[in-house]
Amino acid sequence: MSQETLSNLLQENRRFAPPAELAASANVTAQAYQEAERDRLAFWERQAERLSWAKRWDQVLDWSNPPFAKWFVGGQLNVAYNCVDRHVEAGLGDRVAYHWEGEPGDTRTLTYADLQREVAKAANALLELGVRKGDRVAIYLPMIPELPITMLACARIGATHSVVFAGFSSDALRTRIDDAQAKVVVTADGQNRRGKQSPLKATVDEAVQHTPSVERVVVVRRTGQDIAWHDRDIWWHDLVDRQSDQHTAEPHDAEHPLFILYTSGTTGKPKGILHTTGGYLTQVAYTHWAVFDLKPETDVYWCSADIGWVTGHSYIVYGPLANAATSVIYEGTPDTPHRGRWWEIIQKYKVTIFYTAPTAIRTFMKWGEDIPARFDLSSLRVIGSVGEPINPEAYVWYRHHIGADRCPVVDTWWQTETGAIMISPLPGVTEGKPGAAMRPLPGIVADVVDDEGKPVPNGGGGFLVVKEPWPSMLRTIWGDDDRYVKTYWSRFDGLYFAGDGAKKDDDGDLWLLGRVDDVMLVSGHNISTTEVESALVSHPKVAEAAVTGATDPVTGQAIVAFVIPRGEAGEEVDGEEFVAELRDHVAKTLGPIAKPRQIMVVPELPKTRSGKIMRRLLRDVAENRSLGDVTTLTDSSVMDLIAAKLPTAK
Ligand code: ATP
Ligand code: MG
Repeated sequence: MSQETLSNLLQENRRFAPPAELAASANVTAQAYQEAERDRLAFWERQAERLSWAKRWDQVLDWSNPPFAKWFVGGQLNVAYNCVDRHVEAGLGDRVAYHWEGEPGDTRTLTYADLQREVAKAANALLELGVRKGDRVAIYLPMIPELPITMLACARIGATHSVVFAGFSSDALRTRIDDAQAKVVVTADGQNRRGKQSPLKATVDEAVQHTPSVERVVVVRRTGQDIAWHDRDIWWHDLVDRQSDQHTAEPHDAEHPLFILYTSGTTGKPKGILHTTGGYLTQVAYTHWAVFDLKPETDVYWCSADIGWVTGHSYIVYGPLANAATSVIYEGTPDTPHRGRWWEIIQKYKVTIFYTAPTAIRTFMKWGEDIPARFDLSSLRVIGSVGEPINPEAYVWYRHHIGADRCPVVDTWWQTETGAIMISPLPGVTEGKPGAAMRPLPGIVADVVDDEGKPVPNGGGGFLVVKEPWPSMLRTIWGDDDRYVKTYWSRFDGLYFAGDGAKKDDDGDLWLLGRVDDVMLVSGHNISTTEVESALVSHPKVAEAAVTGATDPVTGQAIVAFVIPRGEAGEEVDGEEFVAELRDHVAKTLGPIAKPRQIMVVPELPKTRSGKIMRRLLRDVAENRSLGDVTTLTDSSVMDLIAAKLPTAK
């Protein structure tokens, strides 16, 4: 983004007060902000006390060598003990930890007592294979119970896990195994995807041909398909079933490396983000309890993300389990065997808290609201969003068609790097504004600054920064401290710069505007892709839109848009008339400056495997360049479809 701040184009005046009943019994009240402001470190100490520590810390935060933070210095704890054993000891052994639902319809219920036994056996199994504290274990598993069980087993013995999303290619897997020098890989024969069985073990076989660090490959039988077998391979059931279900968890240092996780790769080559033990667990436990108003005795919580992404790590595994919550895990895709599968799951398990991504919401908008309408969603009370800015229209659709205008929507901003939610409404406190992530959570100090790092006034836009260290912050990029400093701490002196643009509205509330790399400079105005996309999505016939800036001889950059029509809009939406209607709609909503030069109606958009729009690829197409790194793209044929639609850029 250049000299001036972001132009503020979008006007959104709808407001939703927190439901009175929820507010009256909410876990967190407005007072939490004041408490944290008065003494931020004391606030985080109180949150750390939610956990069970084998040894209390001597110092809350050591920030003597910034940007390398140490939290709860001298403290010791075991993450698996905190997520499982202590709940069993507290008499909650019969509580369901996970309702697991396989894509073909098979199910498994794991209570906390079951989980304790399974994790102990898996921990003993890893020890038998020679895995020791500090070793790295790569996990390449579908969404089956063995995935959280393996993560917890690693945490238990102090091995650092690196979960690789099971949709990634052997190349992507190989580079991640190599980067972390993993000693063991845990995988499955195959996985269920859209009613078909796709291989996983074969992908691992290919990857580990070139990864000398890997000694053993543990294979869970999921699909029963034929697989090749090598000396290094061992079946999970042969190895784990015969282990003792007793294992004593030893405490680890608060700064012991818990996991490495690679970012989604939306902007380029993924980075191996390192998270540690005490601070991470403190913040995921606190935020899961506060942001979703979790009542562990009565709530049934479902986060639809894949555990292969940070959302799954923090809000399917560590946060919910630390809080003794009951969660749903679903193995498959939302349209198998039918497009109502998710709503059927909510109905079946009486889910009360639901957490998903804008990409999913926009897909459901595209499919049509008659589908969720066929299911009983009345158990829901809080619904959340994460992963991209949520377009106001998608927010309102979500609130209305899924939340029955009753459930508050929590739009949560955070990153792999932040480890846990940073900016979000609190459902019992905050008035909701469609499209706004609102305020930094208690204990988090974030702001929007200009080019020189000075806070912008209300009404202004600029760079989103975090000003003080937070407990679940990344500690470094694995094996590359320099890259850590350069990537996150060098743009502004002493500030963590997240890569995202944001604006502060007149009340000082925060609206995320996408990546600053995506900001377009049109005739001297900085315009955010998010605002133009949201304007397009606010047209009743548009479900999803992606916008990019292409070089233009007249305006510097010109806005090029790609739109997917809504289900009910049907066939009527191709052709010049529709495009003209959309261009006028944007001009009316945001002003003539934001009118796209071109609008393409497309069947799909290029997305990362975590479901985020990859605008940099659209820019490559719009500017007739060869495509950048596409390894994280879900389906590369999408780009051919789009390129075919695009007349050569002027
Ligand atoms: P890479 O860093 O490799 O390009 P990535 O940034 O997509 O990948 P993640 O850590 O999964 O990897 O995503 C974090 C990013 O997602 C944020 O920086 C932000 O751009 C976006 N994001 C997440 N939640 C929200 C939200 N609620 N509103 C707006 N943007 C969000
Ligand atoms: Mg990122």
